[in-house]
This record gives sequence, C-alpha cells and structure tokens, in this order.
Amino acid sequence: MKRVIVATGNKGKIVEIKSIVNDPEVEVLSMKEAGIEADIVEDGKSFEDNAIIKARAVWEICHELVLADDSGLEVDALNKEPGIYSARYMGEETPYSIKNADIIKRLEGVPDEKRTGRFVCAVAAVLPDGEEIIVTKTMEGRIGYEERGTNGFGYDPIFLPDGYNCSSGELPMEEKNLISHRGKAFRRMWEILAKLDAK
Ligand code: IMP
Repeated sequence: MKRVIVATGNKGKIVEIKSIVNDPEVEVLSMKEAGIEADIVEDGKSFEDNAIIKARAVWEICHELVLADDSGLEVDALNKEPGIYSARYMGEETPYSIKNADIIKRLEGVPDEKRTGRFVCAVAAVLPDGEEIIVTKTMEGRIGYEERGTNGFGYDPIFLPDGYNCSSGELPMEEKNLISHRGKAFRRMWEILAKLDAK
C-alpha cells in the first residue's frame, strides 16, 4: 500500500485530505500516525514558501511522499491582511469572534464592491526522490458585516463566497469542500500525483 504523510498536526485537515484522496490503495497518515516529530518554523514570505518549508522538514526525516498546506485570508481593502499571518493575527490564542469583529471594524464605511477578498491555499508535495510540486488555489468572495453560521472555523463566519447568499460558515462541510481553496488545491495536487504514478 502506498503511503502519504501529511505535514500537519491538525486533525480536521487530515479528515479533509482523506476524503479527497479516497483511495483504498493509499494510506494517508498524519505526522503523529507516522511517528514523526518535527518542530517546524514557518518563516516563509508566502503561502507557497511556508507549505514547502513544512513538507520539506518532514521529508528530511522520512524520505517518503509528503504533503503540506498553508492557507489564509486576504482582504483587499486591508492590503491583503491577514494573509500568511491569518492564524497569528491578533495572537494565536485570540478567539476568532474577536479577530472577525476586528476585521469588520477595520472595514467600517467600505462599500460592498470594495469588500473583496479570498481564501488562499498552497499545497506542496515532496516526492520520495526529493522533487517538489506546488499548487495554489483560491476561493473568491467578500467580507460581510457580521458573523454568520457555525459550520466552519476561523474566518468562515465573515466570508461570503461569490455566487452564494450565505457565509462559508453556513455551508455544510461537503459543500464548502467542493468550492474551497483547500478542496480545490488538494484535488488538483492529487490529480497531478496520480498522473505521475500512471507513467
Ligand atoms: P495554517 O493552518 O497555517 O494553514 O493557517 C490557516 C489559517 O488561515 C487558519 O488558522 C485560519 O485563520 C485561516 N483559514 C484558512 N482556511 C480557512 C477556511 O477555510 N476557513 C476559515 N479560516 C481559514
């Protein structure tokens, strides 16, 4: 059986990636499940840099196929903040209700058409031979005026995806995965890896 190690400690991400890969011949393992411990410093200047840093750090230990992602929210009217600092915005331990309220406050007086933004996800793969592949996808939308919905996490309650009359925090998980930055990036990466394997 083929093994893929995902360079994350986030259980939600592992569940999501398992459901995307969905192949009985492939075993998707978290670092913990693979018995790998690594203290990774995400000091890159872009989502892509950080995804590669995480994947490469784990590959250095196991030399197996490793996947890692880095994601965040870009708000155009805030000069693309919080961007790569999305998790650390106002402090890692600060509740998202406070982070979301702060973003809404900073957008006071900004009209609908200028409240654009996007979730970004970069997925990096390091193959057993050390080759790197990187895929970046986005989910475009706008920042709302209040928190809505309890389905998602992070900035979902204030993010209104284009073409929907609700926040991404109001979408069922399966529906969000179909249109989300992370869903699209992992599905594309898996297509690329499957083609490489077929050669
Ligand atoms: P990462 O785990 O280092 O990739 O950090 C991602 C951070 O970006 C999360 O902690 C959230 O703040 C934000 N984020 C990324 N994707 C989403 C999403 O789908 N919904 C809400 N917030 C997200």
